[in-house]
Amino acid sequence: MSYGRCLHLRGWRRRDLRRRGSRPGQRLTADIEHSSIDCGRSSREIEFCSIAFELFVLLNGMGAGAPALPTNYNGSAMTLQPDILFHRYFQSEKRSSMDRKHYKGKKDLETLTDPLLRLWLVKIQESLNESLNDEQDIPDHVKHRPFHLDLIDDCCVRNAVAFLCDGYSFIGITMTLIFTMWEVCIRLCRSEAIAMVLGVEPPTEVCGPLHALLSQIQHRFIVSHEYTHHVHGHLLSESAESAFYNEVVSDDSGSIEEQAFEVAADGYAVFQVLANLVDGDWRSQAVALLKLDKASAGVQDQALFSCFVIAIGGYLFSRRPDAVDNATIYKLGHPPQAARMDYIMRQVVKWSKASHPSLTGQITPERFQEIMHAVAAATFEMNGKNDWVTQIVFLQSESGSKYLKKLDASVQRHIQTLGSRK
Ligand SMILES: [Zn+2]
Repeated sequence: MSYGRCLHLRGWRRRDLRRRGSRPGQRLTADIEHSSIDCGRSSREIEFCSIAFELFVLLNGMGAGAPALPTNYNGSAMTLQPDILFHRYFQSEKRSSMDRKHYKGKKDLETLTDPLLRLWLVKIQESLNESLNDEQDIPDHVKHRPFHLDLIDDCCVRNAVAFLCDGYSFIGITMTLIFTMWEVCIRLCRSEAIAMVLGVEPPTEVCGPLHALLSQIQHRFIVSHEYTHHVHGHLLSESAESAFYNEVVSDDSGSIEEQAFEVAADGYAVFQVLANLVDGDWRSQAVALLKLDKASAGVQDQALFSCFVIAIGGYLFSRRPDAVDNATIYKLGHPPQAARMDYIMRQVVKWSKASHPSLTGQITPERFQEIMHAVAAATFEMNGKNDWVTQIVFLQSESGSKYLKKLDASVQRHIQTLGSRK
């Protein structure tokens, strides 16, 4: 079963679509995907206020107040907390001048004028750090340093990064990516097509809670993906103090092996997020957010599965699709989005068969197609009004088929090494 074949968006407004050419540039510097949306914060902070009340209700269930932020990130060695080390990493002269321009360091949330926005981000960070450092001993994981996740004060770069430095396994998410995901979720939860897919009244009466749920799924998927880069040893082959594992950002200095790491990280993230969302502690909160407390388990399962696909589909679809041909595709740092989503869906099916068989029958290509059409309709303006048709046509060609076989083989080789990497 190929879910990629379902991603052809029939009836799309083809005359509106523009193609993006491949862009030359180096991995961390010139080939950064700048946000196509205004990097200014004020409009988003205003937008935030409009649904902040419902989020605030959610946040009340997420623990205590914010930890005090250090007032001087460049403080002495006597006060080197992980967030200070995180900040210094980006300002180090080991980074290129271009990197230092794009990644300024830790985002000081105290500079945000909206107190609810600040509280929301602090809670996200607290919750994710707590989860990261509450891990169990997994035989397939490499030995790794303690985790610290922080937000990055950036200059219009949608990115998440993983790196090793000063005794920590760091994960960073740029504020631009946070705000981009926020906007994706706004569009999704206000979409009539999404409301129809979920079977709620348009505009959805659960807009605020649905936004909160979709945002959480996106955040946890991205962080689980970065976590996998650490625990599966993807960073060990690079110079430990300078390695900087890019997400989202496109580049042309990748390889099939690097793409295999990305597929594996997506796959592991699928298992972690779904296990928590559908079968774990997160389920009751998610079901309550959807106002499905009294629905049957089957209805709840279907809604949770749909929300997962909507959130991850929206996250991938909001990016400009990489232009691919037989030469460029092997140089990408990540598989093209259509291939990535196809792998993600295959992992969803694999997870369901192993852990939640009653859901397997509901995960059909037709249902996936229905959801992705709704996602595309809600978010296509964010990626320059592009679709994935070019990618899908290539992936279905003879060259594309060879590429997918090589990628599959590389993923399998990588998976077979898990447990032997120490
Ligand atoms: Zn990655």
